Amino acid sequence: MMTLERKDAGTREAGTSPRILVVEDEAPLAMLLSYNLEAEGFQVESEARGDDAEVRLAETAPDLLILDWMLPGVSGLELCRRLRAREDTRSLPIIMLTARGEEHERVRGLSVGADDYVVKPFSVPELMARVHALLRRAKPERIATKLVQGDLALDRETHRVRRGEREIHLGPTEFRLLEYLIEKPGRVFSRARLLDAVWGMAAEIDERTVDVHVGRLRKALSRGRERDPIRTVRGAGYSFDETFGRD
Ligand code: CA
Repeated sequence: MMTLERKDAGTREAGTSPRILVVEDEAPLAMLLSYNLEAEGFQVESEARGDDAEVRLAETAPDLLILDWMLPGVSGLELCRRLRAREDTRSLPIIMLTARGEEHERVRGLSVGADDYVVKPFSVPELMARVHALLRRAKPERIATKLVQGDLALDRETHRVRRGEREIHLGPTEFRLLEYLIEKPGRVFSRARLLDAVWGMAAEIDERTVDVHVGRLRKALSRGRERDPIRTVRGAGYSFDETFGRD
């Protein structure tokens, strides 16, 4: 259930984007993860062995660690335990990957201090969502809770959207759609990409569904002669108009 589709290249600001270390000995999976994390704008490093990862982590800690359970050298479980015992990595956000799905294994993974736990095979959008959620929890100042463009403001914490003084009520799908678009003004997302990001890849949904929800979002955001912040790019998809609020 892993998506092999290449994500659009993300805009990256060197030095400011969070650093993620992927420790995974299955090369195709490690590549898939690096590829998609880089597309999301993260700086990615990877290691295939637990002991090599430990050496690297002793030099510099990333902002988040994606750690496979079964690794040559030192196992992910043991590495996680060691990292939690060290002062500088005690609160390092860790997502563990494993093929084991049994409840007692999950409990074991969390008991050695992993923050989250993902069972293979997983969907890439699901893992990305967990990465973002964990980074938000770990470093709330890193990811803005309030996204503002022009007179439009979206608050991720309260799930409120305002246009000027007016509160806008959105359904959960429209909220996620707006959250996704407003984060990268000007960037055009295909319907397939939006389906993947907003609905998740498990969704077997027709791409026209995206049009329906974008239509609802537009209707909710703009009244009368108010400017429409969403741009339709024929043959390509949708974007949040980067010139919105500049006039
Ligand atoms: Ca492995």
